[in-house]
Amino acid sequence: MAMKNWTAGTQCVAKKDHCKPKDGEISYHKGDILTLVGPGMRKGEYTARHNTTGEEGQVSGSNLREREALRIDPKLSLMPWFHGKIAGQQAVDKLKPTEDGLFLVRESVRHPGDFVLCVCFSQKVFHYRVIYQDNKLTIDNMQFFDNLIDMIEFYSRNRGAIATLLLKPKKKEGLKSAETKLLKSGWLLDLSKLTLGEIIGEGEFGAVFAGEYAGQRVAVKIIKCDVTAQAFLEETSVMTNLHHKNLVPLLGVILHNGLHIVTELMTKGNLVNFLRSRGRFAVSVIQLLRFALDVCEGMEHLESKKLLHRDLAGRNILVSEDGVAKISDFGLARVGSMAVDNSKLPVKWTAPEALKNKKFSTQSDVWSYGVLLWEIFSYGRQPYPKMTVNEVKECVEKGYRMDPPDECPADVYSIMTSCWQTEPKKRPSFHKLRERLEKELKLHT
Ligand code: ADP
Repeated sequence: MAMKNWTAGTQCVAKKDHCKPKDGEISYHKGDILTLVGPGMRKGEYTARHNTTGEEGQVSGSNLREREALRIDPKLSLMPWFHGKIAGQQAVDKLKPTEDGLFLVRESVRHPGDFVLCVCFSQKVFHYRVIYQDNKLTIDNMQFFDNLIDMIEFYSRNRGAIATLLLKPKKKEGLKSAETKLLKSGWLLDLSKLTLGEIIGEGEFGAVFAGEYAGQRVAVKIIKCDVTAQAFLEETSVMTNLHHKNLVPLLGVILHNGLHIVTELMTKGNLVNFLRSRGRFAVSVIQLLRFALDVCEGMEHLESKKLLHRDLAGRNILVSEDGVAKISDFGLARVGSMAVDNSKLPVKWTAPEALKNKKFSTQSDVWSYGVLLWEIFSYGRQPYPKMTVNEVKECVEKGYRMDPPDECPADVYSIMTSCWQTEPKKRPSFHKLRERLEKELKLHT
C-alpha cells in the first residue's frame, strides 16, 4: 500500500466502521472525522484524535481519506432542483423520461412569485401549486414551511398530500447539488447527533444556539431564509479552507430548516463582552496583548491566503474556554476585492478608502485591526465614543484619529496609529504587526 504523506493537523474522514479496536487503537464509525496528531507506532498507521469522542490512538491510514476543502463554486446549490421561471409544459419536458418520484420546483409563469412542485408518478406529471401565506409556504394548508428547502426535505420523507415521495431531484442544467458535495467531502453532519440548547447570540441572519454534537460542545447558527442560506454556503466554503488556532473552527453543516452552520463553541463569548464584563482589574495588560497577538496571528493566516475579512471588530472575535481569541464571522470574507453594499459597512471600523471608493485590501483590514486594538485596550468601549457615524466619517477623512485609551502603553498606541495611516501602503502588514506585538509582549513578561 502506498504511504500517504499526511502531516499532523490533517483532518480525515473514516472510510469504514472500526468498532472492535485492538490495543492502542481507537474506534470510529464510517464518516467520523479524525484529526491526525502524528505518525503511528507501526507502518501505515497514524496517531489520531477522534473529533467528537476526543479519544486518541492508532488508526490505519488505509481506513482514512483526507477531508477535502470545498472549492468556492457558484454552481454549488442548496436547491439544485429549482428551475426558476419555466412554464408547465417545459417542466413536463424536463422530467422525461418519467420516473416515479422524479421532481423539480419552478416559479409559476401565470402567478409570478408562486412556486409549483412538479413530480412524476405512473407516467404522469403532477403540478402542485405552493401557496405563500403569512410568511409560510404550503401545498395543502396542513403542512407549512419556512422555505423550499424544508418543504422538499419534508416530502422526501413523508408523502403527505402528494402522489408520491420525492425520490430524485431533476437538477437544473449546470447546477451541482451542495448536499452531495458536502456529503462526499465530509462536511455534512448528522442532524440526529445534534442537541440544541439555549440561544447565545442573535446574528443578523439568524439566531446562534449553544448545543452538543456527538458529545462535543458546539455553536449552531441557523439560517432559515433559503436565499441567505445559499449565500452562507460560500462563507462555509471559505471556512473549510482555513485551519488555524486563531480562527473559529467549522465542524460542518446540516441541511435542515434552511442551513445549520456548526462551529466549535467559544464558551467565553465575544471579546467585547468578555472585556466589558471583567474590566481592567480582572484582565491584565499581558492578557490584552495576548488577545491582540491571537487576532493578529489569525489575520496573518488570512493575509497569507490572500483573503480579506472586511468586518474585523471586537464583536467578531470569540474567546475559547482556555482563553484564546479566535476570529469568527467570515460573512464578508472574499477572495480579492468585490463590490459590497455600502449602507451595511461598519463605518467606525472601515478604512477611509474602503468607505469612499470600496477599495478593500489587506491594508484596509489592518486599519480595522487598529480600531480593534483600541477596543481591546479600552476594555471593550465603543470606538469614537460619543461621535455619530457621520461625524466619524467626516473627521477621519480630515485626519482626526482617536486618542489612546486610558493607561494604554505608548508602544501599543503607536502600533494603532500606524494602522491608521491615510496612505494604505504605509500601514504595516499583519506579519510586521505580529513581530511588534511579540516584542511588546516580551517587554511586559
Ligand atoms: P452574524 O454574523 O449573523 O451577526 P455572528 O456569527 O456574529 O452572527 O454571531 C452572533 C453572536 O453569537 C456572536 O457575537 C457571539 O456572541 C455568538 N456566537 C457566534 N458563534 C459562536 C461560537 N462559535 N461560540 C460562542 N458564541 C458564538
